[in-house]
Amino acid sequence: MVSNLQEQMKVQKMNIEERMSKIGKKVAIGSGKGGVGKSVVTSLIASYLAKQGKTVGILDLDITGPSIPMMFGTNEKPIGGSSGIMPVVTERGIKIMSMSLLLPNNEDAVIWRGPMISGAVSQFLADIIWDELDYLLFDLPPGTSDVQLTLMQSIKLDGFLVVTSPQILAATIVKKAISMAEELNVKILGVVENMSYALCPDCGKIINVFGNGEVNKMGVPIVGKIPIDPKISKLCDEGKIEEYEIDLGGIYDILEGL
Ligand code: ADP
Repeated sequence: MVSNLQEQMKVQKMNIEERMSKIGKKVAIGSGKGGVGKSVVTSLIASYLAKQGKTVGILDLDITGPSIPMMFGTNEKPIGGSSGIMPVVTERGIKIMSMSLLLPNNEDAVIWRGPMISGAVSQFLADIIWDELDYLLFDLPPGTSDVQLTLMQSIKLDGFLVVTSPQILAATIVKKAISMAEELNVKILGVVENMSYALCPDCGKIINVFGNGEVNKMGVPIVGKIPIDPKISKLCDEGKIEEYEIDLGGIYDILEGL
């Protein structure tokens, strides 16, 4: 029994190595706190990379609160076979995989304890057939728990991007996510400040809705700023996030330099 389990784990580890060897750059995107727009930022970065001609995948590791498929407007069921599971492909060719695509009904709740969640992460890493990709982005759940630990201990990430909003609370909690990545020797690429500002629709003036400067105090460079824009939430709701136009050249350069 024990040796059988050991054998299974050995095979899983080999599969993870084999799958990940085909991926150019593996980047995790996380936050300390939920609702700061981490999945939006992941989707926008993936879309920007795809527009620059890169092949991109997103693994939605927010097992209990997945939202990536909704933002891309897909609920297609992935095709699986003995060699693994094929990711779903979006309009612009981004490959995505998420727990919500595997549930019979995407409104079903995943109510699992930590070990089950860690097991799901390992299975995702071992079983998804990404083939060759320039980038695989990992959309992490908020916090510093089982998913983050399993991911960072199972594969060698090329970097970690932290998403926050400018509020003091969000910025304070982000420090924990950064400490975790540092502890596990994952390179911090910088902070993406979401909901950074709003543009007045009448005069174009920048309004710092959530204040200004808290993120600067974190000692990690801000590599991108994304405004609060009603178009973003509308496109998320319509499943058309790929259509949002934004210049993320700063983040692109950092990722290309990895
Ligand atoms: P998280 O992954 O951090 O929990 P999401 O990325 O799922 O958060 O964002 C939650 C919702 O907030 C989105 O569905 C979207 O409607 C809204 N949202 C996030 N960022 C923005 C933004 N910059 N402008 C407008 N709405 C946003």
